[in-house]
Amino acid sequence: MTAAAQPGHKWNFGAGPAMIPRPVLERAQSEFLNYQSTGLSIMELSHRSQPYEDLNNKAQAQLRQLLKVPENYKIIFMQGGGHTQFAAVVYNLIAWRHHQNGAKGDWKEIPVDYVVTGSWSAKAAEEAKRLGANLRIICDAKKSLGAFTGIPAESTWATSDPQGAVRQADAASNQKPAYLYYCDNETVNGVEFPYVPSLHDPSVPLVCDMSSNILSRPVDVSKFGVIYAGAQKNIGPAGVSVVIIREDLLQTSELKDGLPPVALMLDYKTMVKNNSLYNTPPMFAIYISSLVFDWLLNADAQRVQDGDAAIYSHSSFVGVEAAQARNERKAAKLYKALEESRFYRIVVQDKAARSKMNIPFRISAAPKGSGAVADKKKDEEMEAAFVAQAEAKGLLQLAGHRSVGGIRASIYNAMTEEGVDVLIAYLKEFENQY
Ligand code: PMP
Repeated sequence: MTAAAQPGHKWNFGAGPAMIPRPVLERAQSEFLNYQSTGLSIMELSHRSQPYEDLNNKAQAQLRQLLKVPENYKIIFMQGGGHTQFAAVVYNLIAWRHHQNGAKGDWKEIPVDYVVTGSWSAKAAEEAKRLGANLRIICDAKKSLGAFTGIPAESTWATSDPQGAVRQADAASNQKPAYLYYCDNETVNGVEFPYVPSLHDPSVPLVCDMSSNILSRPVDVSKFGVIYAGAQKNIGPAGVSVVIIREDLLQTSELKDGLPPVALMLDYKTMVKNNSLYNTPPMFAIYISSLVFDWLLNADAQRVQDGDAAIYSHSSFVGVEAAQARNERKAAKLYKALEESRFYRIVVQDKAARSKMNIPFRISAAPKGSGAVADKKKDEEMEAAFVAQAEAKGLLQLAGHRSVGGIRASIYNAMTEEGVDVLIAYLKEFENQY
């Protein structure tokens, strides 16, 4: 039976916490009371027990396999969500750069470079500033484009040109930035990088927030210093974040070195040294994440999720490569439906930067290209009606982020093609009412 045909089935288009694959939920349910014949649920085991240690190692190995994480990178599980990582990267990498500088000079002068392409990278930049770092926004999409509707060409970023003023000044002062930060997929604004930045000084580590698109496509981890992601979109439940860090960057920020002391819970080196078992980890969240990794690595489980889609019939077609193929198909059909309609407006103008995970759009009664002035109040009423009628039909959480309004469909790995088809049918049905 297809999911849509199941009585009471709901489609979750929320940006996070997001859908968890059905086979994962079923497996968790079946193991809930007795995890691997321990007689206890996973939540009741000691985090120092062998079964949990095995799970901790297994989850890391699965992620390493899925993302082909090179040996010189460490994988850690941390708590505190994406927001905690906004702070952790500041402390950890400024400490690293300070030590690269021979532990001399004032850490407050070490630049930290941010590319701001949406509200999450903006918030991460604000946090760096709040913590006293020498923040440099080397690209601000809102300033260049008027709104977060695309990604300004990398060649225009302030640090891209080796002969440009910023790189020259850095060379003159012998002061390299601690890192270059960007957000691969801006969940609120629907802007996703179609490439990995490459024009910056290669000795400056790239730090990337992949909270909302990790595991949606292959990624060349070797190009990054740090990748992090909160789990609650493409990995599992809220409560755990994944951090992948190149091991030579591990450096604790300590007062004795003239640095702001970092709380040990934010210190990557402490987490690595203790194999993510420095304190009691969020075991249930890591367990579900491991089941999601299993699901991604298992062709049969993915076929259950996808129905009989022929392209998934090859048993070696698994992992992030399979997820990517499915995600591209889902996003392409949804964007096409929006483009072909009379009154849905895709927010992100720059086609190459349109997210395959989060698709924000607006409704306007003014015919496209007619030059007619939109009636904002009426349009917003239609958007509210769109969301309310969708809820009544079991299509949930389609309202845009509260900071921007409008509508947003989040179609992460766990969203099936069938779910996207149901949404497209609803788009047409709603439009026909007007
Ligand atoms: N980064 C991105 C890209 C996000 O989408 C979010 C949350 N939606 C965050 C960071 C913040 O994550 P958290 O709520 O886990 O702190």
